[in-house]
Amino acid sequence: MATYKVPCIHCGEMVERDAHNCPKCGSRSPFGYHCPTCLKPIERGNAVCSGCGRPLTTTCPYCGGATFVGGERCDACGTTLLIRCESKRCGELQFFENTKCTVCGKPIKKAAKQIEAIKNGGK
Ligand SMILES: [Zn+2]
Ligand SMILES: [Zn+2]
Ligand SMILES: [Zn+2]
Ligand SMILES: [Zn+2]
Repeated sequence: MATYKVPCIHCGEMVERDAHNCPKCGSRSPFGYHCPTCLKPIERGNAVCSGCGRPLTTTCPYCGGATFVGGERCDACGTTLLIRCESKRCGELQFFENTKCTVCGKPIKKAAKQIEAIKNGGK
């Protein structure tokens, strides 16, 4: 049976339509943008999320430029906007502004520390 593949909006890799992550860039939303806070589908160009009302543009903590929140990487400098959930069992990638994990619901307390580490070129 032929597999139906669609290009990842982030890196262009052809990804199976039912995949949850892009195997190349690891994006959790290879086929469309999602609000990083409430996970509703969002579109570039809209001002706020229709689900939770958060602004869809934010300031990059790395370069200070304006960036779209669904892009996973800063529009201006290309730095990843994702950090990891601090729960060891979860460890899912989360948007840097999230105060709790959208997967396990645990609070993310060390976001600032993780941002600092990325700023300093670490992992
Ligand atoms: Zn990708
Ligand atoms: Zn939302
Ligand atoms: Zn940036
Ligand atoms: Zn989590």
